[in-house]
Amino acid sequence: MICVSLTGRSTEEMLEGAAKAARLGADLVEFRLDYAHHPDISQLLAGKSLPAILTCRRRRDGGCFEGAEAERVRLLQQAVDLGAEHVDVEVDAVSQLARRPGVRIIVSVHDFKETPKDLDQLYKRIAGRPNPDVVKIVTTANDISDNFRLFELLRKATVPTIALAMGERGVMSRILAGRFGGFLTFAALDAQSGSAPGQPTIEELTKLYRYREIDAETELFGVVANPVAHSMSPLIHNAAFAECGMNRVYLPFLVDDVTDFIARCRTLPVKGLSVTIPHKERAMQSADEVDELTRRIGALNTLVERDGKLIGTNTDRSAAIGAMERALGGRKADMSPASSSQGGPDVPARQRTGPDKSGSHHGSGRSPLAGKRVALVGARGTARAVAIGLVDAGATVKIFNRTPARAEALAGELGCEWGGLDQLADAGHVEVIVNTTPVGMYPEIDTSIVPAWLLREGVLVFDAVYNPVETRLIRDAVAHGCLTVTGLEMFVAQAARQFELFTGENPPVELMRRVVEERLTAG
Ligand code: NAP
Repeated sequence: MICVSLTGRSTEEMLEGAAKAARLGADLVEFRLDYAHHPDISQLLAGKSLPAILTCRRRRDGGCFEGAEAERVRLLQQAVDLGAEHVDVEVDAVSQLARRPGVRIIVSVHDFKETPKDLDQLYKRIAGRPNPDVVKIVTTANDISDNFRLFELLRKATVPTIALAMGERGVMSRILAGRFGGFLTFAALDAQSGSAPGQPTIEELTKLYRYREIDAETELFGVVANPVAHSMSPLIHNAAFAECGMNRVYLPFLVDDVTDFIARCRTLPVKGLSVTIPHKERAMQSADEVDELTRRIGALNTLVERDGKLIGTNTDRSAAIGAMERALGGRKADMSPASSSQGGPDVPARQRTGPDKSGSHHGSGRSPLAGKRVALVGARGTARAVAIGLVDAGATVKIFNRTPARAEALAGELGCEWGGLDQLADAGHVEVIVNTTPVGMYPEIDTSIVPAWLLREGVLVFDAVYNPVETRLIRDAVAHGCLTVTGLEMFVAQAARQFELFTGENPPVELMRRVVEERLTAG
């Protein structure tokens, strides 16, 4: 069940919120009496259309109530006497409430500092009280591993239990509460409201994560990152799963210790992970198998579970190279109407579900990049994957980087030329320009790392930055008659290939592109 927590300042505001929550598909509402001035409990109970929880949280438990404890207990007792469906009361105050038949008492504990080590003891202390109708333990996740302990608690629960972790590291406990048997999860009415850190909105829970459809059979996926809040991966993958009617959900995982987290994922089990900054290199150690090309790149962005093994691969390289090749007319093998009409990566049929063996996932035949002179800007993660792809495609690559030593090291490894950023202006006659630095990314949207005089008609310009889609570099390139490939193409292509690896099915590429484009346009 989804309960929308209402923090209106007046009885009327809370009732308006309750009506909206009902329209948005909530199962219950929580009236937070501690937020409102002189809340009228009988009016609240008479005016609502959904079952309710009445709560009056003290400041020391994370609420706003500052009055006398006797006054607080009086309000809660009034809620019981007037027949509220649920009344939430802290474990130390529950004995002060006189019970009534039909009114469920939620006995709660909140910890704003941590997820205590002795969760089992804490649980016994609450569940062991006379007739707790519902046990509620809300802690703070200081590490994503705290969620796994709460899931374990839910598995062992002897009475209906709410076990949630606050904070961005606790988001998975909120989205997966139902999957592990939790009595309910809380949602905010909208992005501006909410009663606890990390609480998703009701629309996120119902539409993005399809909370109601999550059950014990739902396969779990997600993106491992730090930070993760900005990631478009939950949006693109959940939209694709929904479009294909799959019982799968994709979560954002804010991870500090990637090795520990992946080990825990095996126990859930998680079926597939996207891995991004800053975990791509270290995650290699957690894979049971890594294909040859990913080993050369030295970083993976995808882990897929196959028969209990975690297979690591990198879809960035084929996504970037495939996007550039398509812009140049494609390899011969890519020219079939089926692949070109997708407008996306060459992500074909279900029989190719294994990770790339050769890493060459963007078709066979001679690459249109072969023989092209390429200026590649950047020398770290993305640059490395793209540079290897370009060299393998037969391009002549010169690497430019802010820290010249990094350009020198990568160029040395690949047998390329290199230079500092100050030499980019003298790059000469290049046919392809690639930016793999974050320059031009939101909010610095009016900056470009490439001098305009390098941009000539017919030159192919690829910018890995995808927020905004039309970067300054892409705008300059269009103005000079260049061919352009945006970071969006690469982003969609790498996600589409991941979808194929995760599910064994063809990805709905156009839908995936559209949802990201819409989100980026909406800001
Ligand atoms: P990274 O590992 O941090 O590398 C950043 C590179 O950019 C380094 O070479 C760095 O130079 C250079 N750089 C950073 N700030 C700079 C500045 N102000 N001026 C000049 N050079 C600068 O990052 P990454 O993972 O490769 O990602 C780079 C970009 O690619 C990001 O914008 C990311 O969003 C984008 N990306 C897009 C996709 C996609 O699907 N479209 C996928 C992956 C990445 P130093 O060596 O001197 O530090």
